[in-house]
Amino acid sequence: SREIHLTAYPKGEPTKDNFEMAEIDIREPGEGEVRVVNKWLSVDPYMRGRMSGIRTYIDPFALGAAMDGGAVGQVESSNHPDFAPGDWVMSMHGWREAYVTNGKGLQKLDTTHIAPEDYLGIAGLTGMTAYVGIKRCIDLKAGETLWMSAGAGAVGSAGIQFAKAMGCKVVATAGGPDKVDYCLSIGADAAVDYKATDNLAKSVREAIGGGVDGYFENVGGTHWTAAMEVLKPKGRIAACGMIQRYNDATAQPLPDNLANIVAKSLRIQGFIVSDHFDMMPDFIADLGQWMAAGKVRPRNTVKEGIANMPAAFLGLFRGENTGKMLVKL
Ligand code: NDP
Repeated sequence: SREIHLTAYPKGEPTKDNFEMAEIDIREPGEGEVRVVNKWLSVDPYMRGRMSGIRTYIDPFALGAAMDGGAVGQVESSNHPDFAPGDWVMSMHGWREAYVTNGKGLQKLDTTHIAPEDYLGIAGLTGMTAYVGIKRCIDLKAGETLWMSAGAGAVGSAGIQFAKAMGCKVVATAGGPDKVDYCLSIGADAAVDYKATDNLAKSVREAIGGGVDGYFENVGGTHWTAAMEVLKPKGRIAACGMIQRYNDATAQPLPDNLANIVAKSLRIQGFIVSDHFDMMPDFIADLGQWMAAGKVRPRNTVKEGIANMPAAFLGLFRGENTGKMLVKL
């Protein structure tokens, strides 16, 4: 069985040389244990933070050991009363083909209405992140306008569809004409290719015909600066992620228009999705209704084989995904 190890903590943009594949034996499960074969692995931008070798809100990856991350697989053999061969399960034992576990942290999946892989995307933490940001951090109300950054990405595309299902107006930003078309196809009222404008704030305003009540921050940097201009008075920001800066080797200066926070009485709420699991029942109920009504559809970009995990991860920083980036084993 194969797994991926991190070989060094990269400075700046990681390269394929920072990863290596290892071949290991997976033993049979002992008493109270299960053996799982992974079918789908997740790559996520937050993993970049875990490659920096310092603890942020989560521990760094250990060097020379299997990395971890979201994974969906099937139980192959089981000596555990709660799991049977064939069961679909989700875990944090990603970046590897198979594993043995005592079942701690293993979640059984109901695949009747939701495809197994979508538990790593719109029906999992990705969708939950969009939900928490829109519902709790921005507290977006029907009729209000949301700007969703990285709108064609995993969180972004979920958020566009959720906000539309809630009766809101949405302007999305994304890189490239195909991504703009995709954002429009899932309901965005307007979409802007941020790579094709030298005045992002003006382009967003013109596209949606005015300011926005909420800004969902996935990008940071130049997007943040533009958002300070586009937000209406009493606007709210969900600070979810700032991917534009994750690979920076040195600190960048702050935007010089932060006085807008004061002048417009803006409210900024940062969040880590795992601090908001109390919203899970609401999320599952709303998502179930929206999916049944055809208002929300999953979209994944799929690479094949464990050897492609590093490439899939690095692709997140080059915009190679539309919807959720996944690796199929
Ligand atoms: P995405 O699917 O959105 O993938 C990343 C996307 O970001 C790319 O497709 C690309 O889209 C865009 N991007 C990459 N580099 C840049 C750049 N330099 N400038 C502008 N855009 C860039 O990933 P996720 O949906 O998983 O994550 C989205 C954000 O949410 C991230 O910032 C992530 O860290 C954060 N997050 C936060 C969580 C929390 O608990 N707070 C939980 C989960 C995610 P394009 O082609 O449009 O440039």
